[in-house]
Amino acid sequence: MRHFAVVGSGPGGFYTAEALNKAYGEAARIDIIDRYPVPYGLVRFGVAPDHQSLKAVSKRYDTTADTAGVDFIGNVTVGRDVSIAELLDLYDAVVLAIGAPHDRKLGIAGEDLPGVVGSAAFVGWYNGHPEFAHLHPPLGGTHAAVIGNGNVALDCARILSKTRGELQGGDIVNHALDALEASPVRTVTILGRRGPLQISMTPKELGELGHIEAATPVVDPADFPDAEADEALEPGQRKSVSLLRDYAANGPDPSKPTLMVFDFYAKPLAIEGDGKAERIIVERTRLDENDRAVGTGETYEVPASLVISSIGYSTPPMEGVPYDERGGRFLNENGKIADRLYCVGWARRGPTGTIGTNRPDGYEVAAQIEAAIAAGSSDGRKGAEGLKTLLSTRDVMPTDYDDWRKIEQTETANARPGSPREKFVRVEDWLKAVGR
Ligand SMILES: Cc1cc2nc3c(=O)[nH]c(=O)nc-3n(C[C@H](O)[C@H](O)[C@H](O)COP(=O)(O)OP(=O)(O)OC[C@H]3O[C@@H](n4cnc5c(N)ncnc54)[C@H](O)[C@@H]3O)c2cc1C
Repeated sequence: MRHFAVVGSGPGGFYTAEALNKAYGEAARIDIIDRYPVPYGLVRFGVAPDHQSLKAVSKRYDTTADTAGVDFIGNVTVGRDVSIAELLDLYDAVVLAIGAPHDRKLGIAGEDLPGVVGSAAFVGWYNGHPEFAHLHPPLGGTHAAVIGNGNVALDCARILSKTRGELQGGDIVNHALDALEASPVRTVTILGRRGPLQISMTPKELGELGHIEAATPVVDPADFPDAEADEALEPGQRKSVSLLRDYAANGPDPSKPTLMVFDFYAKPLAIEGDGKAERIIVERTRLDENDRAVGTGETYEVPASLVISSIGYSTPPMEGVPYDERGGRFLNENGKIADRLYCVGWARRGPTGTIGTNRPDGYEVAAQIEAAIAAGSSDGRKGAEGLKTLLSTRDVMPTDYDDWRKIEQTETANARPGSPREKFVRVEDWLKAVGR
């Protein structure tokens, strides 16, 4: 019997466990270890609560968790409760699927002022992530800004702009729903250093902006090059740009009070205010011959008492694991870090791609493991049994998938009408729900 540990129960971890299970069948036991008693990673804590259909992918992960030979070991933080070296002693191979949970810094003056938050924190706040549930983002002003031109930036802007009626059917947590409803934010500026043809936003997410009940996109027609420039774009990007061109041509809907203002060619230089964020100092840019943003020297101010920076994420370093500082992820070659140590998902590639992108990743790494480690005896490695013995000496109490189902049942039972669940936002409440 072989023993494999997959650290992280987001898409990367689950697809890898699925692939390993298919490859080895009954000849291997696969433990999916997560720091929380609740699985699914960013499918629970990242994907927007008004995009419920995307979260249905968790049903597939449940099927994997229910498969004989696959176990979930929650409430165990690798790197704190158990080291990588210890896992390598206990398992034939270890796959790190811990994602990229840290916000990248802007690197500008004023970014530590109250009122400036990273998108991981803001998204975690409305999605009930225990680390960010008590963020209390300042929503008392009329102007907010989101720095970044990707889908996460768009998620943040959209959640700030939707009405309670539009949000309450999803699994946004009550504290965020109430705070957003009470908020007077009426202008959300979305800042991007480059132009509309360089965005990393996808058509579905951009198209949605045209159908928000009380908010309307504002795009400046002068920001676009001639229409022929779109011909060189790949089809998805062309569609996104054509949506922006439509918004620019039609102008904002005057019946809608909230403006979602796209401010292109805008490089934040500093965030200023009297002890808290009040404005962003921005430099106007232009594109050079390689489509890089270069400053023009012209500066202006964007008012914002809430500034959300959404410029990417990084994986935290772990003791004993080579790390790529620049890429903010583990140093790896096609997912292999070292002998018997691998990584998948955002910890492997960095924070790009959709949920589905993690599937080929997981399957590729599982195939490498299969090629390197034949089915057979585990050379005395004890897998889950050894891990649990070790954890018991450290007062760490792991949870399993049945515990998760109990938590899920309670969350479902507590949901407001029309919503699938009301998430617990404290680790203690999860543990209480399973009688710990
Ligand atoms: C705000 C946001 C919105 C998104 N929306 C979409 C969308 O609409 N559609 C889409 O297709 N994709 C979306 N994505 C992308 C998608 O969520 C990612 O591609 C995917 O979640 C990455 O999977 P992962 O397994 O690498 O990491 P994650 O999903 O982050 O999973 C990592 C797991 O590792 C665990 N972990 C971390 N550290 C440790 C540790 N030390 N010990 C044990 N466990 C640990 C975490 O608890 C977590 O469960 C979104 C991403 C973000 C940030």
